Amino acid sequence: MSSPPQPDAPLSVAHATSLVAEALDSGRLERAPAERLGANLLRPGVLEVLLEAAEASKRRHKGDVVTVSRNVFIPLTNLCRNRCTYCGFAKQPDSAVAHSYSLEEVAEVVRGGVLTGCTEALMCLGDKPEIAYRSHRDWLAARGYDSTIDLLVEACKVALDGGMLPHTNAGVLCAEEMERLRPWNASMGLMLETTSQRLRGRGMAHYHAPDKDPAVRIRMHEEAGELAIPFTTGVLLGIGENVAERVDTLLTIRDLDARHHHIQETIIQPFHPKPGTRMRATAPIRDDEVVGWVALARLVLGPRMNLQAPPNLAPEMLGRLLRAGLNDWGGVSPVTIDFINPEAPWPAIDKLRALCKAGGQRLRDRGPVYPEWILHRPEFFDPQLRAALPCLATDEGYARRPHRQSREEAA
Ligand code: SF4
Repeated sequence: MSSPPQPDAPLSVAHATSLVAEALDSGRLERAPAERLGANLLRPGVLEVLLEAAEASKRRHKGDVVTVSRNVFIPLTNLCRNRCTYCGFAKQPDSAVAHSYSLEEVAEVVRGGVLTGCTEALMCLGDKPEIAYRSHRDWLAARGYDSTIDLLVEACKVALDGGMLPHTNAGVLCAEEMERLRPWNASMGLMLETTSQRLRGRGMAHYHAPDKDPAVRIRMHEEAGELAIPFTTGVLLGIGENVAERVDTLLTIRDLDARHHHIQETIIQPFHPKPGTRMRATAPIRDDEVVGWVALARLVLGPRMNLQAPPNLAPEMLGRLLRAGLNDWGGVSPVTIDFINPEAPWPAIDKLRALCKAGGQRLRDRGPVYPEWILHRPEFFDPQLRAALPCLATDEGYARRPHRQSREEAA
């Protein structure tokens, strides 16, 4: 009996076509064919086969709609106890640009968001900095907080009171912390990033990052599911993982969602090297490869998953990304920069709208949670959040932006 081909054995276009046809029939791409396609996606003709199948899969369940969320990005603290070798966001406390937000600063950003028609307040911050830094413990104590989570809960209340729906991404949280945040958050998230334990080894991207232990992150996803929290996750491409590890990460997300039905979206995010980091000289993943992995993610995760690729991280490839099966551009802000990738400006939303139109699709504004969750999954929201949702969501579940709707949006 002959053994199965190695994943990186050359794959013909005809064979790739039959693998994606099976995936379209069954609604899911399994591990072995995903690894074969992933190892061959830059081979001539294979990427086109993948794109065609991924777009067909997307249209099967999402039709011609692509969404975007106008948000404000609030980096509540850029201190973090981890030291991922690719991270340009986290700062040491003695850095001139280390900063933790006061509630007054949060309120000011929220006001700017409301004035420009944003509905999502993205709270994004480092992991448990008080464990690593006495100065941060003192900063919190001086304001009456025992932990960064205490501050975060208050910041979410300020955002909700100010007329925006918070979405929190605060790194690894325990179940009790998520329970405290749930009444004030429309949704929460944690990038799974990778299931590779190898990347926690000496010299690898996550060696000095205890919160990047895949088991710890998977446990948080499980607990978020048990707490019925609409949850955002994603894959980080290009931090040293291999094809099998990327596929495993996607399959893990699929399995988590199959158990808890709580993954509201999966982000496919390429790593961009940052000056001043240990990975500053690492070559970024090629744009073509990003497009290919978005398409593979669509086929692995199936037609129902909300699939997102940040448009500021592959700006030359927006048209191809649109053909790769995504149905969401994620958060785009008219007010704040992408503090994780400050070198990458947001595209204008009207440019995304025109791009969608040219590709035979329609751009619609959503809030931090997707319309189908608002309309059909009330059990995922705390009662007080459920009461707040109609103020910021239309009858169809899209973002309600009183007085801010442009003629193009209405069209
Ligand atoms: S956990 Fe996040 S914020 Fe902290 S160092 Fe790693 S990538 Fe940066």
